[in-house]
Amino acid sequence: MAGADAPGLAELIAHEPDAALGNGGLGRLAACFLDAMATLGVSAFGYGLRYEHGMFQQMIEDGRQVERPDDWLRHGSPWELIRPELRYEVGFGGQVMEEAGRRCWQPSETIIAQAVDFIVPGHGTSHVCTLRQWNGQASRPIDFEAFCRGEHLASAQHLHSAEAVNWVLYPDDSTPAGRELRLRQEYFLCSASVQDMLARHVRECGDVRSFGQRNAVHLNDTHPALAPAELMRLLIDAHGLEWDEAWAITQQATSYTNHTLMPEALEAWSLSLFAGMLPRHMEIVYEINARFLAEVRARFPNDEERVRRLSLIDEHGERRVRMAALAVVASHKVNGVSALHSRLMVETLFADFAQMWPGRFLNITNGVTPRRWLMQANPELSALLDAHIGPAWRRDLGALAALRTPAGTAGHPIRAQFLAAKLAAKTRLAALIAREIGLVVDPASLFDVQIKRIHEYKRQLLNVLHVVARWQAIVADPTRDWQPRTVVFAGKAASAYFAAKQVIRLIHDVARVVNHDPRVGGRLKVAFLPNYGVSLAEVIFPAADLSEQISTAGTEASGTGNMKFALNGACTIGTWDGANIEMAQAIGEEQFFVFGLRTEQVQALREQCYQPGRFIDASPALQSVLDALADGTFSPGEPHRYHDLVRTLAERDPYLLMADFDAYVATQHEVDRAYADRDGWARRALLNIAGMGPFSVDRTIGEYLERVWAPPAP
Ligand SMILES: *Cc1c(COP(=O)(O)O)cnc(C)c1O
Repeated sequence: MAGADAPGLAELIAHEPDAALGNGGLGRLAACFLDAMATLGVSAFGYGLRYEHGMFQQMIEDGRQVERPDDWLRHGSPWELIRPELRYEVGFGGQVMEEAGRRCWQPSETIIAQAVDFIVPGHGTSHVCTLRQWNGQASRPIDFEAFCRGEHLASAQHLHSAEAVNWVLYPDDSTPAGRELRLRQEYFLCSASVQDMLARHVRECGDVRSFGQRNAVHLNDTHPALAPAELMRLLIDAHGLEWDEAWAITQQATSYTNHTLMPEALEAWSLSLFAGMLPRHMEIVYEINARFLAEVRARFPNDEERVRRLSLIDEHGERRVRMAALAVVASHKVNGVSALHSRLMVETLFADFAQMWPGRFLNITNGVTPRRWLMQANPELSALLDAHIGPAWRRDLGALAALRTPAGTAGHPIRAQFLAAKLAAKTRLAALIAREIGLVVDPASLFDVQIKRIHEYKRQLLNVLHVVARWQAIVADPTRDWQPRTVVFAGKAASAYFAAKQVIRLIHDVARVVNHDPRVGGRLKVAFLPNYGVSLAEVIFPAADLSEQISTAGTEASGTGNMKFALNGACTIGTWDGANIEMAQAIGEEQFFVFGLRTEQVQALREQCYQPGRFIDASPALQSVLDALADGTFSPGEPHRYHDLVRTLAERDPYLLMADFDAYVATQHEVDRAYADRDGWARRALLNIAGMGPFSVDRTIGEYLERVWAPPAP
């Protein structure tokens, strides 16, 4: 084999497309989980669908996002292993009959789920985990007679219908056809995966009755929440168990992680769609609900309002099945993903459930894999760590705490070495920025980075408002010694999410003005890197000086990007939200740049009928930023382009940007002052790294093993 420097290998790696299987943080978390479970030697499978077109490929044309299908499997994938012997039938539609006293589902359509395995190797072990992805195939060949009659399309219609489950990740669910395909995908995933788990269990243990003692079925959000209903169906209809025994097994096996409190993100399927596609599961959900609500009525007599709130069926408007409620009722444990999120989960979204079963709810804070996000992505920093604290951090991230002493010692060489490693990573990113978007940036400038899905609650817009304020301040006082900054953005907006797409457009409009303004003299540059994904992230995280984690307090469940940044020696400017809080506590709050309203203050302001205009009136700087957006300074060809955006901020501002603006800008000035002291900054960055031990995904998986997946005591 050629040496590591062989140009052939590096080139080959650069050409390999990212697996387009995920959407953002949730899928990336699952990938980190598989890495940790392989490394820790846990016997685990990740189950998913083998999407042909996963997340779209993002292009920028004329400052606007354009979506192109991501054909990541076009040249095949050398890593996947087709398992022709692993095939299961999955049914849809039809009706439920009564046969010899038992319910018997006769689907009107069946498709085959064919397994395709991806192997995930652990670090420093021969153990691997498997990501098993399902491919939909027609259960019968083309209709030969119809084909011979010349009805070519009609003869193969069922082939399309079977394969459609794999066409795209997250079909647009704003249409009935999109919602139907999405529910088909979810059931297809659940049915194939539960059949596979049951088959393996029976093969190894002989008896389905011990399934719950020997298996954990973990629901990573509600997309697989049909799994417990499918397990009930198979245990009762296929294996002949009685309801109570099947339910005990199902609850013993099932657990659920909630990833968002946002009401618009909670899945609910209309009863007509659900019952038409899954008539037997409809009966099972009704039965689960009837038994559950009887329990509620026994515990809380004469409280029909509570019964309505808890019911698995939402009776407001069109009746719908609430998937999060199904997941909670079917699980023995339900967790949130940061301390704040888990507290809000039991105080708000699941308050009534937590009153019923307080012991069911817990917190397990997310983590990231140091193998990908430090060892692989940042060779310079990894070498520095090895030299000072040895190589153990790869499997024991707590070892990073040993950095505290050298980092805190004045004159210790580690500080200058850290700055050199950081400069190397920044130089690599600067080259990528030049190559991708033709912008020249100075690696010596402060790299201020916000990379994540574009979403209003994540507040990329607040970041842009600060950029505009800084530009105005530089222009007003060009001779001051402004700290040079490069502000980097990357992220995809959902294709139908207009407000998020406007933010991408605004970033490009602001960049065009700021980057070419001679009065700025290169002291402020704005770069938007298209097509954010894991490969791009691996170049960007190591190069960041400042990590932007500025969601409205109470909205970001955990965040994991925040962890990747700090692990790579970026300091955080952030709100008191999600895992930022626990990171600040572990690292030392004085090493964090915290600003803005806290969750309780956000709640209070909203209850008092928040008036953003008051904050605008009180801040001349904010006023002049909004004026510049509204008067077409950044969109001279179309001066009204941002009118609606500014009006929304002035009138409703649902994510409280106006309330946090002044504090944000003031804290950015603090960042400038801290960064100017290079040695002090190196100390701060190293202390950030030193505190990141608890945010290894290995710790996260260890907690799931002990607190959620542990077999029940005999
Ligand atoms: C880590 C990561 C995310 C999640 O980022 P957040 O800042 O936590 O939202 C999303 N996408 C990719 C590619 C990531 O690596």
